[in-house]
Amino acid sequence: MIERRKTRPVKVGGVVVGADAPISVQSMTNTITEDTASTVRQIKALESYDCEIVRVAVNTEPAAKSLKRIVGQVEAPLIADIHFDHRLALASLDAGVRGLRINPGNIGGKDKVREVAAACKDKGVPIRIGVNSGSLEKGVLEKNGGDFADAMVESALKHIKLLEDESFYDIKISLKSSDVLSTVRGYELLAEKVDYPFHIGITEAGTAFSGAIKSGVGLGILLYKGLGDTLRVSLSDDPVNEVIAGYHILRDLGLRTGGVRLMSCPTCGRAEIDIVNIARNFEKISARIKSDISVAIMGCVVNGPGESMHADVGIAGGKEKSVLFSGGKMVGKFDNSEILEVLLKEIESITGEKIKI
Ligand code: SF4
Repeated sequence: MIERRKTRPVKVGGVVVGADAPISVQSMTNTITEDTASTVRQIKALESYDCEIVRVAVNTEPAAKSLKRIVGQVEAPLIADIHFDHRLALASLDAGVRGLRINPGNIGGKDKVREVAAACKDKGVPIRIGVNSGSLEKGVLEKNGGDFADAMVESALKHIKLLEDESFYDIKISLKSSDVLSTVRGYELLAEKVDYPFHIGITEAGTAFSGAIKSGVGLGILLYKGLGDTLRVSLSDDPVNEVIAGYHILRDLGLRTGGVRLMSCPTCGRAEIDIVNIARNFEKISARIKSDISVAIMGCVVNGPGESMHADVGIAGGKEKSVLFSGGKMVGKFDNSEILEVLLKEIESITGEKIKI
């Protein structure tokens, strides 16, 4: 059982982050925010995979204007990602975002911090301080002897102080580095100093394959230590895959329930069916299933029946026909050409969910 760090809660729209709230999964759009239609389309795609919070880059005035139109067309609470320009933060708040990601030390002085903090307070909008090892303030890394973890913590504490000086405490913090161990140590050190909730992630993690592995390792360590209240898996890929990966990490640690737990065999010389493609297609199709269900996809009758009988539903490959199991019992044998369809139909009948293909 993982014991989570005690944190004070903040609210991003209807999503509570921190305290005992479930660890939320978020992503960020990679469309041009000025392109309202494409951004709305991508946010809706993210929502269909249960992305709970969506971050959007707001880097220009037209982007802030577009944001106003976007907010009215989507359900998920939006966070505006701002760098340097406090006017874009104020415009985003006017547009109706439910969170800001901005580093108060980078927006040009105390007056501007005061203005943004006051506007956030007025609207009940939290601020995420997002420290990134690649964009630390001048001199901090040198001062800390080149230690990224220490430098990120020092930077975060400086930004936090600027907000606390304005009596603003509706804060989340992230300390992201592309190095797993620096990231972990940074969060560990900061956890000793503050009780603000943590947004966790490994930045610039890589592609869908290498990035998901790196994030799985980094976020897995942090979550196992009880650190993390909301997360983003950063991938050079479709943001939908960030959401899918995020839920996988949380489910594998027992921190969220719901969705498919897939067991598929690695295949070997005994495989009677094309497990690689069946499992791949199944994984894509089943990512939107909300019910908690275990599914086994096995290549032959050596280990297939055993695993399939222990899962809620499963298949064991055979020559020309494969066996379908459900609830620990054999249901029947079906042609290999239709076995995926048969499996999906069985899941629909068990869960009562219509599977969207
Ligand atoms: Fe090989 Fe069969 Fe095991 Fe799959 S289930 S790895 S095909 S022995």
